[in-house]
Amino acid sequence: MRSIRFRCPRCDVPLTPRLRALELMEALCLQGDQTWLLPAGWFVRRDDPRLASPYLATALADYPWLLAPLPSRWIRVHPDPARTTGCCGLNWWGPDKPNLVCRCGHEIGFGHGDCIGPHWYSLHASTVREEAIAETAPPDYAGRLARARELVAAPITSPPHDPGGRPAMADDVPSWDRALHLAELELTCGGGIEDPSLMIASPQLPAEARLVVPIPWCQLVRQLVLAEKPWAENEVPLGWKSPRQDAPQVELSRHRQRVLMTVWGPGRSEWAVTMRPSTWADAWARLRGEDGESVELDATDR
Ligand SMILES: [Zn+2]
Ligand SMILES: [Zn+2]
Repeated sequence: MRSIRFRCPRCDVPLTPRLRALELMEALCLQGDQTWLLPAGWFVRRDDPRLASPYLATALADYPWLLAPLPSRWIRVHPDPARTTGCCGLNWWGPDKPNLVCRCGHEIGFGHGDCIGPHWYSLHASTVREEAIAETAPPDYAGRLARARELVAAPITSPPHDPGGRPAMADDVPSWDRALHLAELELTCGGGIEDPSLMIASPQLPAEARLVVPIPWCQLVRQLVLAEKPWAENEVPLGWKSPRQDAPQVELSRHRQRVLMTVWGPGRSEWAVTMRPSTWADAWARLRGEDGESVELDATDR
């Protein structure tokens, strides 16, 4: 498999981990809100015909490399708030005002993390691309996709349980102690491709109680087919929201040996739980039908 690491054209430091070209259309999120456009660890070209979407500005044609949001040890948000401040997240204000910079200060790209449309970063055409060919053969994506379609066809059999835990917030680590800690859990999914949910059972929940977490199909594909890491650093959490109007926003953030899952709004209960990264990763691996640990616990530098 071919991978690319993007580097700053001015100072040559890496701007990204090694990223692979995304072929799997099902893993793209073109219309949804509050969901990464594509999985971490991958890139797509803005002029890819599959990316026709009103949410991807054609004004940014000079910034052809689209990727998932990254933490600041890779790429920083521009220090000028007039270039970055949206109504509730990172926004941009014109094709001549990049809102992302390299650690050296060089203006390098645009990012969108506001409420409308999927979240993305895009890098300027001048970024240096360091290519490598990995020895490993690509996994059996077609087989995994078929299995994911089977799994998601299961019915949702439980009403959603509210474990409390509010208000715990990704960027306020002491608040994580308010959330129920799940020492063990079992993960299933169902509800159909149009409206999937995760279901979480745990000995730390009342018997028969299930956490029900709506998840868009694109995000489920990233976990079940691409085996994406099921969290991001708490600085830029992994987030998603189902296309359904009343679906809650979901965020997964890691700090040291804890992962926080927060689920909130609109007009629904708001809750949070924590788990060890290995507990959460192993539950996903079992759902994919794998025996052992398969997600690198800190695959930030592949
Ligand atoms: Zn630089
Ligand atoms: Zn907003």
